[in-house]
Amino acid sequence: MTDLARLDGTVFAPGSPGYEANRRPANVAYHDVRPRLVVSCRSTSDVVAVVSYAATAGERLAVRGGGHCFAGRSSTDGIVLDLSELNDVTVAADGVATIGAGARLGQVYPALHAHGRTLPAGCGPTVGITGLTLGGGIGLLGRQYGLTCDRLVGAQVVLADGSVVNCDDAHEPKLFWALRGAGGGQFGVVTALQFATVPEPLTTRVEAWWSDVAVERVMAAWQAWAPDAPDQLTVNLAVIAEPGEPVAVTAFGAATLPEADTHGLLREFTQLAGLPPVTELIPDMPVHRLKASFSDSGEPGRAVRIRSEFFTRPMPDDTLASLTSDLTAGPIHTTRQLSFTAMGGAYDRVPVGATAFAHRGQRFLLEHTAAAGDPWVDRSWHAAHGDASGRVYPNFPDLELDDWPAAYHAENHARLVEVKNAYDPHRFFRFPQSL
Ligand SMILES: Cc1cc2nc3c(=O)[nH]c(=O)nc-3n(C[C@H](O)[C@H](O)[C@H](O)COP(=O)(O)OP(=O)(O)OC[C@H]3O[C@@H](n4cnc5c(N)ncnc54)[C@H](O)[C@@H]3O)c2cc1C
Repeated sequence: MTDLARLDGTVFAPGSPGYEANRRPANVAYHDVRPRLVVSCRSTSDVVAVVSYAATAGERLAVRGGGHCFAGRSSTDGIVLDLSELNDVTVAADGVATIGAGARLGQVYPALHAHGRTLPAGCGPTVGITGLTLGGGIGLLGRQYGLTCDRLVGAQVVLADGSVVNCDDAHEPKLFWALRGAGGGQFGVVTALQFATVPEPLTTRVEAWWSDVAVERVMAAWQAWAPDAPDQLTVNLAVIAEPGEPVAVTAFGAATLPEADTHGLLREFTQLAGLPPVTELIPDMPVHRLKASFSDSGEPGRAVRIRSEFFTRPMPDDTLASLTSDLTAGPIHTTRQLSFTAMGGAYDRVPVGATAFAHRGQRFLLEHTAAAGDPWVDRSWHAAHGDASGRVYPNFPDLELDDWPAAYHAENHARLVEVKNAYDPHRFFRFPQSL
């Protein structure tokens, strides 16, 4: 059996210094899970050793980047393989960035900014670049530049048999295809990612809050407007019910357009929604500062539950009315939030079979988020479900789905199973809803 005593990284066992700090994932819902070992890897050879050790010993292995998985897939009572120390970011003269698989977004954006480059990716600063990329990667620049995985040009992966493969369009192309959108942890442990970065644009930051508004009209206006806005403008919408407060609505996002043009476009939305105009925009923000400015959105200190779905068409009035009345129905003890994310634009300019991400052609994504245990999440999800496309973003795993292969993978599912059979035939990388 491989010797874990000779690693570049560190092994944390229960009772050893650092075990408590290292065993917990970022997602507080899984803070009680106690792994038998946490191995913090510092090199690809460490990853090979841990995979070989776990495979030989028949131990369950959970791969952890940022530790945010909503379904707890980076936690286990077996061995946690933690990649957070593999976090180097280098950028070559041609703009291709090589990023250690354990880097978090809060490390990636400033490192790319130092080279005048960036990536379309998410906002949470502690979200792992690899977890995000393997499931797709939706962000405020995505309608202009596509998913994070659309910028992936290569990856290094440690397979279940301990072999190390470098994949791209020309080498192991089926694996490379599958890494772009099937969701994390399916085929092997990714140790490094290579991205074709984009020149970092200056952005105009958008954020506005309103309360005491006609919520149904605002949601209808956003659904009609945001997915068809120019690609250079992404505006998302959140409808928030707090205990004892009137329902609040916030629109937030970014444009790679001048401030005056952004104002003009936002006026179309506020007029349609019957809202007072957006008064304050912040122009000329580089992307790493834009992202940092939205960094506290959605980082709850308590366990939350999220269910979501994609939509290809605006919701009818009766669905909008149900969502609105449900939001404040029954006792509200903690925050409930409906979050609408605009799709369209560059997300749809990649053919559906070109990557494993199956959800091209969707207009928007709706998340229902509340404290774990609040029955509103299911009620609200079901109220919208009849109008949804039935597609679910693999980075928002939902253990309640009736038909998860169709929801996550749609027409790509059969091809993904073939890749799984080829690269992990014994299902060493296994968790609920894995291929
Ligand atoms: C605060 C917050 C903000 C978010 N914002 C966005 C957003 O703007 N856009 C968006 O698209 N998504 C967003 N998400 C969702 C996010 O993309 C997923 O939760 C993602 O899976 C998190 O990856 P992680 O590395 O942080 O989590 P982890 O739990 O570490 O990993 C997630 C999954 O990927 C696997 N994995 C991780 N690293 C590797 C690796 N090196 N090799 C193989 N498998 C690996 C894990 O085993 C697990 O199955 C957000 C989530 C949170 C909590």
